[in-house]
Amino acid sequence: MSDAGAGAGIGTEGRNTDGKFGEYGGQYVPEALMPAIEELTDAYERYVLDNEDGFVDEFRDRLRDFGGRPTPLQRAERLSERYDTEVYLKREDLLHGGAHKLNNALGQVLLAKYMGKERVVAETGAGQHGTATAMAAAHLDMPCEVYMGETDINRQRPNVFRMRLNGADVTPVTAGRGTLKEAINETMRDWATTVETTHYVLGSVVGPHPFPAMVRDFQAVISEEARRQIREQTDGLPDSVLACAGGGSNTMGAFAAFLDDEDVSLHAVEAGGSSLTVDEERGVAPNSASLSTGGEGVLHGARTRLLQDDDGQILESHSVSAGLDYAGVGPELAHLVESGRVRAVNVDDDAALAAFHRLSNMEGIIPALESAHALAYLERVAGLDGPATEGSSGKPRDEAHDDLGDTVIVNVSGRGDKDLETVIEETDRREIEEAPEMDVFTEGL
Ligand SMILES: *Cc1c(COP(=O)(O)O)cnc(C)c1O
Repeated sequence: MSDAGAGAGIGTEGRNTDGKFGEYGGQYVPEALMPAIEELTDAYERYVLDNEDGFVDEFRDRLRDFGGRPTPLQRAERLSERYDTEVYLKREDLLHGGAHKLNNALGQVLLAKYMGKERVVAETGAGQHGTATAMAAAHLDMPCEVYMGETDINRQRPNVFRMRLNGADVTPVTAGRGTLKEAINETMRDWATTVETTHYVLGSVVGPHPFPAMVRDFQAVISEEARRQIREQTDGLPDSVLACAGGGSNTMGAFAAFLDDEDVSLHAVEAGGSSLTVDEERGVAPNSASLSTGGEGVLHGARTRLLQDDDGQILESHSVSAGLDYAGVGPELAHLVESGRVRAVNVDDDAALAAFHRLSNMEGIIPALESAHALAYLERVAGLDGPATEGSSGKPRDEAHDDLGDTVIVNVSGRGDKDLETVIEETDRREIEEAPEMDVFTEGL
Protein backbone atom coordinates (compact mmCIF):
# COMPACT_ATOMS: atom_id res chain seq x y z
CA MET A 1 0.00 0.00 0.00
CA SER A 2 1.17 3.51 -0.67
CA ASP A 3 1.72 5.72 2.34
CA ALA A 4 -1.98 6.02 3.05
CA GLY A 5 -3.16 9.27 4.51
CA ALA A 6 -0.79 11.42 2.50
CA GLY A 7 -3.74 12.85 0.62
CA ALA A 8 -4.69 9.61 -1.14
CA GLY A 9 -8.36 9.03 -1.99
CA ILE A 10 -10.22 7.22 0.77
CA GLY A 11 -10.95 4.02 -1.12
CA THR A 12 -7.32 3.15 -1.80
CA GLU A 13 -6.58 0.07 -3.85
CA GLY A 14 -6.46 -3.24 -2.06
CA ARG A 15 -9.45 -2.34 0.07
CA ASN A 16 -12.64 -4.31 -0.49
CA THR A 17 -15.26 -2.01 -1.99
CA ASP A 18 -17.87 -4.40 -3.41
CA GLY A 19 -19.48 -5.33 -0.11
CA LYS A 20 -18.78 -9.07 -0.25
CA PHE A 21 -16.45 -10.23 2.48
CA GLY A 22 -16.06 -13.98 1.97
CA GLU A 23 -19.45 -15.38 2.94
CA TYR A 24 -20.36 -12.22 4.81
CA GLY A 25 -21.88 -8.91 3.74
CA GLY A 26 -24.36 -8.47 0.90
CA GLN A 27 -27.64 -6.58 0.59
CA TYR A 28 -30.43 -8.47 2.40
CA VAL A 29 -33.10 -5.78 2.28
CA PRO A 30 -36.80 -5.59 1.45
CA GLU A 31 -37.73 -4.68 -2.12
CA ALA A 32 -38.85 -1.21 -1.02
CA LEU A 33 -35.33 -0.29 0.08
CA MET A 34 -33.49 -1.44 -3.05
CA PRO A 35 -33.81 1.88 -4.96
CA ALA A 36 -32.29 3.72 -1.98
CA ILE A 37 -29.48 1.18 -1.66
CA GLU A 38 -28.70 1.34 -5.37
CA GLU A 39 -28.62 5.12 -5.41
CA LEU A 40 -26.33 5.16 -2.38
CA THR A 41 -24.01 2.55 -3.87
CA ASP A 42 -23.66 4.69 -6.96
CA ALA A 43 -22.95 7.80 -4.85
CA TYR A 44 -20.38 5.88 -2.76
CA GLU A 45 -18.50 4.85 -5.89
CA ARG A 46 -18.56 8.28 -7.49
CA TYR A 47 -17.91 10.59 -4.57
CA VAL A 48 -16.06 8.49 -2.02
CA LEU A 49 -14.03 6.17 -4.23
CA ASP A 50 -13.50 8.44 -7.25
CA ASN A 51 -13.47 11.81 -5.45
CA GLU A 52 -16.00 13.27 -7.89
CA ASP A 53 -16.52 17.04 -7.40
CA GLY A 54 -13.68 16.99 -4.83
CA PHE A 55 -15.81 15.24 -2.20
CA VAL A 56 -12.84 13.60 -0.46
CA ASP A 57 -10.91 16.88 -0.28
CA GLU A 58 -13.84 18.69 1.31
CA PHE A 59 -14.34 15.80 3.75
CA ARG A 60 -10.70 15.98 4.85
CA ASP A 61 -10.78 19.78 5.19
CA ARG A 62 -13.88 19.62 7.37
CA LEU A 63 -12.44 16.82 9.50
CA ARG A 64 -9.48 19.11 10.15
CA ASP A 65 -11.28 22.41 10.74
CA PHE A 66 -14.49 21.24 12.40
CA GLY A 67 -13.35 17.89 13.80
CA GLY A 68 -9.87 18.85 15.00
CA ARG A 69 -7.95 16.19 13.05
CA PRO A 70 -5.35 14.85 13.12
CA THR A 71 -5.79 13.47 16.62
CA PRO A 72 -2.54 12.81 18.50
CA LEU A 73 -0.76 9.47 18.80
CA GLN A 74 0.59 9.64 22.34
CA ARG A 75 3.07 7.40 24.15
CA ALA A 76 1.57 6.37 27.49
CA GLU A 77 4.50 6.53 29.91
CA ARG A 78 3.15 4.69 32.96
CA LEU A 79 1.40 2.01 30.90
CA SER A 80 4.59 1.41 28.90
CA GLU A 81 6.43 0.86 32.16
CA ARG A 82 3.72 -1.35 33.64
CA TYR A 83 3.55 -3.67 30.64
CA ASP A 84 7.21 -3.44 29.62
CA THR A 85 5.96 -2.65 26.12
CA GLU A 86 5.85 0.64 24.25
CA VAL A 87 2.18 1.61 24.49
CA TYR A 88 0.86 4.31 22.15
CA LEU A 89 -2.65 5.71 22.43
CA LYS A 90 -4.54 6.92 19.36
CA ARG A 91 -6.53 9.76 20.91
CA GLU A 92 -9.94 9.65 19.20
CA ASP A 93 -11.30 10.88 22.52
CA LEU A 94 -9.94 14.26 21.43
CA LEU A 95 -11.99 14.38 18.23
CA HIS A 96 -14.83 16.93 18.35
CA GLY A 97 -17.74 15.36 20.21
CA GLY A 98 -15.44 13.11 22.21
CA ALA A 99 -15.42 9.96 20.08
CA HIS A 100 -14.56 8.55 16.67
CA LYS A 101 -18.21 8.66 15.60
CA LEU A 102 -17.94 12.13 14.03
CA ASN A 103 -15.63 10.77 11.27
CA ASN A 104 -18.51 8.71 9.89
CA ALA A 105 -21.36 11.11 10.65
CA LEU A 106 -19.59 14.02 8.96
CA GLY A 107 -18.75 11.84 5.94
CA GLN A 108 -22.32 10.67 5.48
CA VAL A 109 -24.03 14.03 6.03
CA LEU A 110 -21.62 15.60 3.54
CA LEU A 111 -22.35 12.78 1.09
CA ALA A 112 -26.09 13.46 1.51
CA LYS A 113 -25.41 17.07 0.46
CA TYR A 114 -23.48 15.95 -2.61
CA MET A 115 -26.39 13.62 -3.45
CA GLY A 116 -28.79 16.55 -3.30
CA LYS A 117 -30.73 15.22 -0.29
CA GLU A 118 -32.72 17.64 1.85
CA ARG A 119 -32.80 15.73 5.12
CA VAL A 120 -30.98 13.03 7.07
CA VAL A 121 -32.34 10.45 9.49
CA ALA A 122 -30.39 8.36 11.97
CA GLU A 123 -30.98 5.81 14.68
CA THR A 124 -29.32 5.89 18.04
CA GLY A 125 -29.11 3.62 21.08
CA ALA A 126 -27.03 5.23 23.79
CA GLY A 127 -27.21 8.50 21.89
CA GLN A 128 -23.58 8.79 20.78
CA HIS A 129 -24.23 8.29 17.08
CA GLY A 130 -27.33 10.50 17.19
CA THR A 131 -25.29 13.22 18.83
CA ALA A 132 -22.52 12.98 16.23
CA THR A 133 -25.07 13.07 13.41
CA ALA A 134 -26.90 16.05 14.91
CA MET A 135 -23.58 17.92 15.23
CA ALA A 136 -22.59 17.16 11.64
CA ALA A 137 -26.07 18.11 10.38
CA ALA A 138 -25.99 21.44 12.21
CA HIS A 139 -22.50 22.09 10.84
CA LEU A 140 -23.68 21.40 7.28
CA ASP A 141 -27.10 23.07 7.71
CA MET A 142 -29.06 19.88 7.05
CA PRO A 143 -32.36 19.03 8.79
CA CYS A 144 -31.94 15.94 10.99
CA GLU A 145 -34.34 13.49 12.62
CA VAL A 146 -33.08 10.92 15.09
CA TYR A 147 -35.13 7.84 16.06
CA MET A 148 -34.49 6.64 19.56
CA GLY A 149 -36.20 4.00 21.67
CA GLU A 150 -38.32 5.44 24.49
CA THR A 151 -36.44 3.40 27.09
CA ASP A 152 -33.15 4.79 25.80
CA ILE A 153 -34.51 8.35 25.78
CA ASN A 154 -35.26 8.02 29.47
CA ARG A 155 -31.79 6.68 30.34
CA GLN A 156 -29.82 9.08 28.13
CA ARG A 157 -31.23 12.51 28.92
CA PRO A 158 -28.00 14.51 28.38
CA ASN A 159 -27.54 13.10 24.87
CA VAL A 160 -31.18 13.80 23.99
CA PHE A 161 -30.65 17.40 25.11
CA ARG A 162 -27.41 17.64 23.08
CA MET A 163 -29.17 16.48 19.93
CA ARG A 164 -32.02 18.95 20.43
CA LEU A 165 -29.54 21.76 21.14
CA ASN A 166 -28.02 21.01 17.74
CA GLY A 167 -31.42 21.41 16.15
CA ALA A 168 -32.29 17.75 15.59
CA ASP A 169 -35.76 16.28 16.12
CA VAL A 170 -35.59 13.30 18.46
CA THR A 171 -38.49 10.94 17.76
CA PRO A 172 -39.33 8.33 20.41
CA VAL A 173 -39.89 4.74 19.27
CA THR A 174 -42.27 2.84 21.52
CA ALA A 175 -42.33 -0.55 19.75
CA GLY A 176 -40.86 -3.61 21.49
CA ARG A 177 -38.48 -2.86 24.33
CA GLY A 178 -37.92 0.67 23.06
CA THR A 179 -34.21 0.25 22.40
CA LEU A 180 -31.73 0.29 19.51
CA LYS A 181 -33.13 -2.63 17.52
CA GLU A 182 -36.58 -1.02 17.27
CA ALA A 183 -35.03 2.38 16.47
CA ILE A 184 -33.14 0.85 13.52
CA ASN A 185 -36.33 -0.73 12.16
CA GLU A 186 -38.20 2.57 12.43
CA THR A 187 -35.41 4.48 10.65
CA MET A 188 -35.38 1.91 7.82
CA ARG A 189 -39.16 2.33 7.50
CA ASP A 190 -38.82 6.13 7.28
CA TRP A 191 -36.07 5.81 4.68
CA ALA A 192 -38.01 3.39 2.50
CA THR A 193 -40.82 5.96 2.08
CA THR A 194 -38.68 9.12 1.80
CA VAL A 195 -35.79 7.91 -0.38
CA GLU A 196 -36.06 10.81 -2.81
CA THR A 197 -35.27 13.47 -0.23
CA THR A 198 -33.60 11.59 2.61
CA HIS A 199 -30.32 9.87 3.46
CA TYR A 200 -30.06 7.36 6.31
CA VAL A 201 -26.85 7.94 8.32
CA LEU A 202 -26.05 4.46 9.65
CA GLY A 203 -23.82 4.45 12.72
CA SER A 204 -21.33 1.61 12.24
CA VAL A 205 -19.77 -0.77 9.70
CA VAL A 206 -22.98 -2.83 9.67
CA GLY A 207 -26.08 -3.03 7.46
CA PRO A 208 -26.33 -3.69 3.72
CA HIS A 209 -23.62 -2.72 1.22
CA PRO A 210 -22.40 0.03 0.74
CA PHE A 211 -22.57 0.91 4.46
CA PRO A 212 -19.87 -1.47 5.81
CA ALA A 213 -17.34 -0.43 3.15
CA MET A 214 -18.28 3.24 3.21
CA VAL A 215 -18.25 3.65 6.99
CA ARG A 216 -14.87 1.88 7.10
CA ASP A 217 -13.52 4.29 4.50
CA PHE A 218 -14.69 7.29 6.55
CA GLN A 219 -13.16 5.83 9.73
CA ALA A 220 -9.93 4.70 8.00
CA VAL A 221 -8.50 8.15 8.70
CA ILE A 222 -7.74 6.79 12.20
CA SER A 223 -5.20 4.22 10.99
CA GLU A 224 -3.96 6.35 8.09
CA GLU A 225 -2.87 8.94 10.64
CA ALA A 226 -1.67 6.40 13.21
CA ARG A 227 0.49 4.57 10.66
CA ARG A 228 2.18 7.81 9.62
CA GLN A 229 2.52 9.01 13.23
CA ILE A 230 4.07 5.80 14.57
CA ARG A 231 6.63 5.81 11.77
CA GLU A 232 7.55 9.38 12.59
CA GLN A 233 7.83 8.63 16.29
CA THR A 234 9.50 5.20 16.23
CA ASP A 235 10.87 4.78 12.71
CA GLY A 236 8.84 1.63 12.28
CA LEU A 237 5.45 -0.04 12.35
CA PRO A 238 3.78 -1.31 15.53
CA ASP A 239 3.80 -5.02 16.39
CA SER A 240 0.10 -4.90 17.19
CA VAL A 241 -3.00 -2.72 17.17
CA LEU A 242 -5.87 -3.08 19.67
CA ALA A 243 -9.40 -1.70 19.32
CA CYS A 244 -12.72 -2.48 20.98
CA ALA A 245 -15.48 -3.91 18.78
CA GLY A 246 -19.20 -3.24 19.05
CA GLY A 247 -20.45 -2.89 15.48
CA GLY A 248 -16.78 -2.53 14.64
CA SER A 249 -16.39 0.93 13.09
CA ASN A 250 -13.55 2.18 15.27
CA THR A 251 -12.04 -1.29 14.91
CA MET A 252 -12.09 -1.24 11.11
CA GLY A 253 -10.93 2.38 11.19
CA ALA A 254 -7.97 1.50 13.40
CA PHE A 255 -7.05 -1.57 11.31
CA ALA A 256 -7.70 -0.50 7.69
CA ALA A 257 -4.30 1.00 6.85
CA PHE A 258 -2.47 -1.89 8.56
CA LEU A 259 -4.30 -4.76 6.82
CA ASP A 260 -1.53 -5.22 4.25
CA ASP A 261 1.24 -5.01 6.87
CA GLU A 262 1.39 -8.72 7.57
CA ASP A 263 3.72 -8.35 10.57
CA VAL A 264 1.28 -6.11 12.40
CA SER A 265 -1.10 -8.23 14.47
CA LEU A 266 -4.63 -6.89 14.88
CA HIS A 267 -6.83 -7.58 17.92
CA ALA A 268 -10.56 -6.86 18.14
CA VAL A 269 -11.61 -6.75 21.79
CA GLU A 270 -15.27 -7.56 22.38
CA ALA A 271 -17.44 -7.11 25.44
CA GLY A 272 -17.44 -10.34 27.47
CA GLY A 273 -20.15 -8.79 29.65
CA SER A 274 -20.86 -10.63 32.90
CA SER A 275 -20.60 -14.12 31.41
CA LEU A 276 -20.14 -15.93 28.09
CA THR A 277 -22.86 -18.43 28.89
CA VAL A 278 -26.19 -17.89 27.13
CA ASP A 279 -29.41 -17.97 29.19
CA GLU A 280 -31.49 -19.98 26.68
CA GLU A 281 -34.66 -19.74 28.72
CA ARG A 282 -34.78 -15.94 28.78
CA GLY A 283 -33.18 -15.52 25.33
CA VAL A 284 -30.35 -13.47 26.79
CA ALA A 285 -26.63 -13.50 26.08
CA PRO A 286 -25.04 -11.66 29.04
CA ASN A 287 -22.33 -10.36 26.69
CA SER A 288 -21.87 -8.79 23.26
CA ALA A 289 -19.18 -11.17 22.01
CA SER A 290 -20.63 -12.03 18.60
CA LEU A 291 -17.21 -12.69 17.04
CA SER A 292 -16.04 -14.98 19.84
CA THR A 293 -19.28 -16.81 20.55
CA GLY A 294 -21.86 -15.97 17.85
CA GLY A 295 -23.14 -17.92 14.85
CA GLU A 296 -23.77 -17.05 11.23
CA GLY A 297 -26.97 -15.28 10.24
CA VAL A 298 -28.55 -12.18 8.71
CA LEU A 299 -29.06 -9.02 10.76
CA HIS A 300 -30.02 -5.54 9.53
CA GLY A 301 -29.35 -6.30 5.89
CA ALA A 302 -26.07 -8.21 6.00
CA ARG A 303 -24.88 -11.78 6.53
CA THR A 304 -22.56 -11.71 9.52
CA ARG A 305 -21.85 -13.23 12.91
CA LEU A 306 -24.43 -12.58 15.59
CA LEU A 307 -25.79 -13.70 18.93
CA GLN A 308 -28.72 -16.05 18.29
CA ASP A 309 -30.39 -19.10 19.76
CA ASP A 310 -30.70 -22.51 18.08
CA ASP A 311 -33.79 -21.35 16.18
CA GLY A 312 -32.00 -18.33 14.77
CA GLN A 313 -33.78 -15.85 17.09
CA ILE A 314 -31.61 -12.84 17.91
CA LEU A 315 -30.58 -12.84 21.58
CA GLU A 316 -30.68 -9.81 23.80
CA SER A 317 -27.08 -8.69 24.37
CA HIS A 318 -25.45 -7.05 27.38
CA SER A 319 -22.40 -4.96 28.19
CA VAL A 320 -21.56 -2.44 30.89
CA SER A 321 -20.72 -0.15 27.97
CA ALA A 322 -23.78 0.87 25.98
CA GLY A 323 -21.80 1.43 22.78
CA LEU A 324 -20.70 -2.21 22.61
CA ASP A 325 -24.14 -3.58 23.47
CA TYR A 326 -25.16 -4.93 20.05
CA ALA A 327 -26.02 -8.48 18.97
CA GLY A 328 -24.20 -8.31 15.63
CA VAL A 329 -20.90 -7.11 14.19
CA GLY A 330 -19.72 -5.73 10.86
CA PRO A 331 -19.43 -8.34 8.08
CA GLU A 332 -15.89 -7.37 7.04
CA LEU A 333 -14.64 -7.76 10.59
CA ALA A 334 -16.38 -11.14 10.83
CA HIS A 335 -14.57 -12.18 7.65
CA LEU A 336 -11.17 -10.89 8.79
CA VAL A 337 -11.53 -12.93 11.98
CA GLU A 338 -12.53 -16.04 10.05
CA SER A 339 -9.62 -15.67 7.64
CA GLY A 340 -7.23 -15.31 10.58
CA ARG A 341 -6.05 -11.75 9.81
CA VAL A 342 -7.73 -10.33 12.93
CA ARG A 343 -7.82 -12.06 16.30
CA ALA A 344 -11.06 -11.75 18.27
CA VAL A 345 -10.70 -11.67 22.05
CA ASN A 346 -12.93 -10.45 24.84
CA VAL A 347 -12.72 -9.00 28.32
CA ASP A 348 -15.53 -8.84 30.84
CA ASP A 349 -17.31 -5.92 32.52
CA ASP A 350 -15.09 -6.04 35.63
CA ALA A 351 -11.86 -5.94 33.64
CA ALA A 352 -13.14 -2.99 31.59
CA LEU A 353 -14.13 -1.07 34.72
CA ALA A 354 -10.70 -1.67 36.24
CA ALA A 355 -9.04 -0.44 33.05
CA PHE A 356 -11.26 2.67 33.10
CA HIS A 357 -9.89 3.52 36.56
CA ARG A 358 -6.32 2.59 35.63
CA LEU A 359 -6.04 4.87 32.59
CA SER A 360 -7.72 7.69 34.49
CA ASN A 361 -5.38 7.66 37.47
CA MET A 362 -2.17 6.55 35.76
CA GLU A 363 -2.31 8.68 32.63
CA GLY A 364 -4.86 11.45 33.29
CA ILE A 365 -7.16 10.26 30.52
CA ILE A 366 -10.73 9.18 31.32
CA PRO A 367 -11.57 6.70 28.54
CA ALA A 368 -15.01 5.66 27.32
CA LEU A 369 -16.08 2.33 28.83
CA GLU A 370 -15.99 0.96 25.28
CA SER A 371 -12.34 1.95 24.85
CA ALA A 372 -11.57 0.59 28.33
CA HIS A 373 -12.17 -2.90 26.90
CA ALA A 374 -9.21 -2.51 24.53
CA LEU A 375 -7.07 -1.19 27.39
CA ALA A 376 -8.10 -4.09 29.64
CA TYR A 377 -6.70 -6.53 27.12
CA LEU A 378 -3.18 -5.18 27.80
CA GLU A 379 -3.60 -6.24 31.42
CA ARG A 380 -4.72 -9.70 30.39
CA VAL A 381 -1.79 -10.25 28.04
CA ALA A 382 0.63 -9.08 30.70
CA GLY A 383 -0.88 -11.72 32.99
CA LEU A 384 -1.85 -9.12 35.58
CA ASP A 385 -5.59 -9.73 35.63
CA GLY A 386 -5.60 -12.92 37.72
CA PRO A 387 -6.47 -16.37 36.45
CA ALA A 388 -8.99 -16.55 33.68
CA THR A 389 -12.23 -18.07 34.87
CA GLU A 390 -15.27 -19.15 32.94
CA GLY A 391 -17.23 -16.02 32.32
CA SER A 392 -14.38 -13.61 32.89
CA SER A 393 -12.47 -14.33 29.72
CA GLY A 394 -13.28 -16.00 26.46
CA LYS A 395 -10.43 -18.40 26.19
CA PRO A 396 -8.16 -20.47 28.37
CA ARG A 397 -5.22 -18.45 29.61
CA ASP A 398 -2.52 -19.72 27.20
CA GLU A 399 -4.53 -19.10 24.09
CA ALA A 400 -5.49 -15.60 25.19
CA HIS A 401 -1.91 -14.89 26.16
CA ASP A 402 -0.76 -13.76 22.77
CA ASP A 403 2.46 -11.80 22.60
CA LEU A 404 1.64 -8.23 21.59
CA GLY A 405 5.29 -7.45 20.82
CA ASP A 406 7.40 -4.41 21.71
CA THR A 407 5.17 -1.67 20.31
CA VAL A 408 1.40 -1.56 20.68
CA ILE A 409 -1.13 0.99 19.49
CA VAL A 410 -4.41 1.10 21.44
CA ASN A 411 -7.27 3.01 19.88
CA VAL A 412 -8.91 5.17 22.55
CA SER A 413 -12.20 5.44 20.66
CA GLY A 414 -13.76 8.00 22.99
CA ARG A 415 -13.72 9.84 26.29
CA GLY A 416 -15.52 8.65 29.39
CA ASP A 417 -17.37 11.69 30.67
CA LYS A 418 -20.61 10.16 29.40
CA ASP A 419 -19.96 7.06 31.51
CA LEU A 420 -19.34 8.61 34.93
CA GLU A 421 -22.76 7.76 36.36
CA THR A 422 -22.53 4.14 35.21
CA VAL A 423 -19.01 3.83 36.59
CA ILE A 424 -19.98 5.22 40.00
CA GLU A 425 -22.87 2.74 40.27
CA GLU A 426 -20.96 -0.26 38.97
CA THR A 427 -17.75 0.41 40.89
CA ASP A 428 -19.68 0.74 44.13
CA ARG A 429 -20.79 -2.87 43.77
CA ARG A 430 -17.30 -4.23 43.11
CA GLU A 431 -13.87 -4.22 44.63
CA ILE A 432 -11.62 -2.60 42.10
CA GLU A 433 -8.03 -2.01 43.17
CA GLU A 434 -7.38 1.25 41.33
CA ALA A 435 -10.77 2.73 42.27
CA PRO A 436 -11.09 5.60 44.73
CA GLU A 437 -13.71 5.35 47.49
CA MET A 438 -16.86 5.81 45.49
CA ASP A 439 -19.05 6.94 48.40
CA VAL A 440 -16.97 10.11 48.40
CA PHE A 441 -18.69 10.90 45.12
CA THR A 442 -22.10 9.40 45.70
CA GLU A 443 -22.62 11.18 49.04
CA GLY A 444 -23.12 14.47 47.28
CA LEU A 445 -25.46 13.13 44.59
C1 LIG B 1 -20.21 3.71 19.68
C2 LIG B 1 -18.87 3.55 20.28
C3 LIG B 1 -18.11 2.37 20.12
C4 LIG B 1 -18.64 1.16 19.44
O1 LIG B 1 -18.93 1.32 18.08
P1 LIG B 1 -18.01 0.68 16.96
O2 LIG B 1 -18.79 0.82 15.72
O3 LIG B 1 -17.77 -0.75 17.35
O4 LIG B 1 -16.75 1.44 16.94
C5 LIG B 1 -16.84 2.31 20.66
N1 LIG B 1 -16.32 3.37 21.35
C6 LIG B 1 -17.02 4.51 21.53
C7 LIG B 1 -16.39 5.61 22.30
C8 LIG B 1 -18.31 4.64 21.01
O5 LIG B 1 -19.00 5.78 21.21
